[in-house]
Amino acid sequence: MQVTQSAKLANVCYDIRGPVMAAAKQMEAEGHHILKLNIGNPAPFGFEAPEEILQDVILNLPSAHGYGDSKGLLSARRAVVQYYQQKQVYGVDIEDVYLGNGVSELIVMALQALLDNGDEVLIPSPDYPLWTASVSLCGGRAVHYICDETNDWMPDVDDIAAKVTPRTKAIVIINPNNPTGAVYSREMIERIAEVARRHNLLVFSDEIYDKILYDDTKHVSTSAVAPDLFTLTFNGLSKAYRVAGFRTGWLVLSGPKQHASSYIEGLDILANMRLCPNVPTQHAVQTALGGYQSINDLILPGGRLLAQRDTAWRMLNDIPGVSCTKPQGALYMFPRIDPEVHPIKDDLQFALDLLRKEKLMVVQGTGFNWHNPDHFRIVTLPRVADLEDAIGRIGRFLSTYRQV
Ligand code: PLP
Repeated sequence: MQVTQSAKLANVCYDIRGPVMAAAKQMEAEGHHILKLNIGNPAPFGFEAPEEILQDVILNLPSAHGYGDSKGLLSARRAVVQYYQQKQVYGVDIEDVYLGNGVSELIVMALQALLDNGDEVLIPSPDYPLWTASVSLCGGRAVHYICDETNDWMPDVDDIAAKVTPRTKAIVIINPNNPTGAVYSREMIERIAEVARRHNLLVFSDEIYDKILYDDTKHVSTSAVAPDLFTLTFNGLSKAYRVAGFRTGWLVLSGPKQHASSYIEGLDILANMRLCPNVPTQHAVQTALGGYQSINDLILPGGRLLAQRDTAWRMLNDIPGVSCTKPQGALYMFPRIDPEVHPIKDDLQFALDLLRKEKLMVVQGTGFNWHNPDHFRIVTLPRVADLEDAIGRIGRFLSTYRQV
């Protein structure tokens, strides 16, 4: 008997752990050492979890072995409410907060509760591909709006407005953005919010990198800029607190909820069905949000993440035919390979060839729902010396690479 995957998976694609990773695993099994620049996971690059967060989990572990509330521990939800008050998001109470096994689980829940077959969701291009994959999984249609590389990767608001149809239910904003590192100004968010307002769109604002900002950049929450819009804001511990393996994130409902009671009931059903999020690590949320923000030691002048961002940006731009916008936030670079200098027809093939020749793993730009095979993404998590080595290899590779 043939066991085949469900038709629901027909358009579901998550290339960050896709074919290049499969090829890299095969090479590792053959004894090669691969430098992996594909996953935004701080731990393997020597980033430690803040001590007080570890202590919280360890202390609470002996009494954290039972199921918890399906929306999350009260202490964690209260801390999240306070965090959003500090971010000028008002009117959120404990019932508006859902903890999850990472933002990833909550993205799927939020879309599953919303979408009927054929419903459309506006998603940035390039995007963090879990959004597009999850819309497809839930029977929806991802409609991509362009972010403009020549304008520091800002969303093209005219393109957003032009892509709204009677089937459009929601818009996704990823700010700070993965993969581009763009951080949106209050004015930019206001302009996007205006489109959402005009067309009654639900807003999903993925703000998981809201504390990873460079060069004095400030982050404003969509829900602080447009408190009149029903918004779901996503965030978590994975990046700013370097504990991606804890699988702890949250979503927050804000804005007018009176017309959304059916949707919220749907969210509650899904939250109940997964019983509860991982309990031990939720004990870390209060300390994480309220305690010393060690991420600042990494992003301010003298900090490791800032130095790595600077090195990666400078070295990528030094490669002939490669250019890269300077990220103002997050942990990635999304450089462009000029097709006039290095014509590439198939960027997956490019990433596979780079892997085989230089033992270096990047993700092809089309894996982020970018329409042309002329970009790739790297993480800026490796130490400066490793980044220098890695980007040196990319430059050397490109200098002779020809795709036939
Ligand atoms: N959203 C964005 C924009 C991300 O980059 C990531 C992870 O890379 C996630 C969500 C998922 O994070 P989590 O570890 O909380 O599931």
